[in-house]
Amino acid sequence: MDHVVVVGAGLAGVRSVESLRGRGYDGRVTLLGEERHRPYDRPPLSKAVLLGTSDDSFVDTDLAALGVDFRPGVAAKGLRAGFVETTEGELAYDGLVIATGSEPIRLPGEGPQLVLRTLDDAHVLRAALVPGARVAVAGAGWIGAEVATAARKAGCEVTVIEAAATPLSHAIGELGARTLPWYDGIDLRLNTMVSEVVEGGVELVGGEFLPAHAVVSGIGARPVLEWLADADLDLHNGVVTDEHLRTSMPGVVAVGDCANWWSRRFATRMRVEHWDTALNAPDVAAATLLGEEAVYDPVPYFWSEQFGHMLQYAGYHPAGARLVHRDGQKWSVVWLTADDRITAVLAADRPRDLVQGRRLIEAGARLDAERLVDPDVALRDC
Ligand code: FAD
Repeated sequence: MDHVVVVGAGLAGVRSVESLRGRGYDGRVTLLGEERHRPYDRPPLSKAVLLGTSDDSFVDTDLAALGVDFRPGVAAKGLRAGFVETTEGELAYDGLVIATGSEPIRLPGEGPQLVLRTLDDAHVLRAALVPGARVAVAGAGWIGAEVATAARKAGCEVTVIEAAATPLSHAIGELGARTLPWYDGIDLRLNTMVSEVVEGGVELVGGEFLPAHAVVSGIGARPVLEWLADADLDLHNGVVTDEHLRTSMPGVVAVGDCANWWSRRFATRMRVEHWDTALNAPDVAAATLLGEEAVYDPVPYFWSEQFGHMLQYAGYHPAGARLVHRDGQKWSVVWLTADDRITAVLAADRPRDLVQGRRLIEAGARLDAERLVDPDVALRDC
């Protein structure tokens, strides 16, 4: 293989380059990035960057030392076997990594709205978070909750509009209700939907007008796939891959937010829009491209920092998994399968439960539900 093209210069893209080199590949590598920035991490955007304690979050990597032809501001527009069409002409490849991530879903309406995906978005939003500003955040998911945290801290008047009956409903269902007390000082409107963004605020379904100086859409993201629309590639909720992260096109792998891979461990398809996947999947994808045997079979992990709390989740809980609560001053919950194997853990300010729970999931451990309910018993002793 003489030339690998990596499309997308986010974390998954740059990790792909590092992994290829780390595995001894010494051919040409071209890294295409639609953004003009060098690769950066996104989690700090809704935390340190929005809070004003940091201005950027560039990934600590040396692209020159990696010998990569990095092309910022160049986007892929199409794909056919052996060739990527870009905004600056066609590129031939022997191996291709698709790492185009995901993009925020916008609210309907012609009025001004902000999103939070890029470093530039974060700077625009940060400038809008001034004391007394009325900020309407649509969506009480991960991004919405973190934006609300920063806005409240900046002294804004914050309204969060959530279509479901609880925050975080999409990710953790009714358990999201446990975060309700954290919304102290925030006007949280549950079971409420934005009808459209208009000049000066938002109109809610039902007709109410909510004035706002800044409207932020935090209603989710979708994988970036438009450039692949005409490619002979299996696309379904992302780029479909096998457990080796191999797509339906020879010599093409996919990683990060845009990849929908087969999980051997959980016997299901997964597309996970979280940092840990972008960090670790690329090493498997690189191995696959280089013809080595590797399987991506993680216990998915993510975290969120909101309202002074650390929420962490590891694993996967299918419908019907049994929920066991570990309630103390700080709480966590564990999901068990029908044969008492731990399949997922959610921890609020209990990082030890998360770390131990993740290891136990990896090991396929069985736990004693009666011991589990006692928050003073360590998970590994249950
Ligand atoms: P991206 O980071 O989306 O990178 C893809 C890159 O590809 C982008 O730079 C894009 O411009 C580029 N691109 C797209 N199309 C093209 C094209 N056609 N040609 C060339 N380039 C293209 N996860 C957590 O686990 N915990 C957190 O606390 C957390 N916080 C987050 C906060 C924010 C504000 C955001 C946005 C995400 C957060 N995440 C968090 C999720 C995590 O950052 C993502 O899962 C991760 O960034 C995915 O990396 P990626 O490389 O797959 O995609």
